Amino acid sequence: MVDDYLVRAIDEGRQARVFAVRSTHVVEEARRRHGTRPVATAALGRALSAGLLLGANLKGEDLLTLRILGDGPLGAVVVTADARGNVRGYVQNPGVDLPPTAEGKLAVGAAVGRGYLYVTRDLGFGAPFTGGAALISGEIAADLTHYLATSEQTPSAVVLGVRVGAAGEVVGAGGLLVQLFPDPSEDLAARLEENLQGLREISALLAGGVTPEELVARVLAPEVPTILGRTPVRFACTCNREKVADLLAALGEEELSALARERSEILVRCHFCGEEYRFGRAEALEVLKPMKAE
Ligand SMILES: [Zn+2]
Repeated sequence: MVDDYLVRAIDEGRQARVFAVRSTHVVEEARRRHGTRPVATAALGRALSAGLLLGANLKGEDLLTLRILGDGPLGAVVVTADARGNVRGYVQNPGVDLPPTAEGKLAVGAAVGRGYLYVTRDLGFGAPFTGGAALISGEIAADLTHYLATSEQTPSAVVLGVRVGAAGEVVGAGGLLVQLFPDPSEDLAARLEENLQGLREISALLAGGVTPEELVARVLAPEVPTILGRTPVRFACTCNREKVADLLAALGEEELSALARERSEILVRCHFCGEEYRFGRAEALEVLKPMKAE
């Protein structure tokens, strides 16, 4: 299968920025790691793609966190992304499944429910900045469009899609983000709206082999977009054994020694990626050594 990547593009008149991502492998890896059922795969996959698209505006070491906190059965959907195409995420209840909608679509809106969406940008200095908006449908793309318009005052269009195959596997996933600069021409706004109508089935297009460059071209057609950059994207977590050991140490000597006495092994599972870290009794006590030396 072909690799996942994101492209950034601009129109001739420099009135709109367009981002397109193919995230089929990213979402399939998330599904495999978290054991998500189809509706959870779709919700998490849309959020992962959204994180990558929003992350395309980050620089250097900046980090972005997208939290979708609905009252539906899925619970929270949380994603973090950086400027280098790394994304990770989880859904609180990955085993949730719902019957399809009347149109035969995965019932993401019902599974997410109503609540709030928050975007936090940690720019590496000062306090992280968080903006939020109410969820308007739970379908994620519409919620994000609403958030960008109200909280960030950026007129945008967002298209997200995940196609799940017969065995629950991800066969196509990705998204589009179109951001308009102030005072775009009426001609461009109308053209974008019309073109985006034809891109609603983005997951089917991606599953059929349409590339991110072709998606961008379809958004701006008939004009030919200028591609500004192409970034490979991947599911990548920042957890490792040392960080988990630090977390255990943070429990404090008393609690950690008690845990080590109670069980032969301490198991810590990373929320974001599902990776499991096992510490035997001796290893757990080893974690305490640097503390004792202080
Ligand atoms: Zn992890």
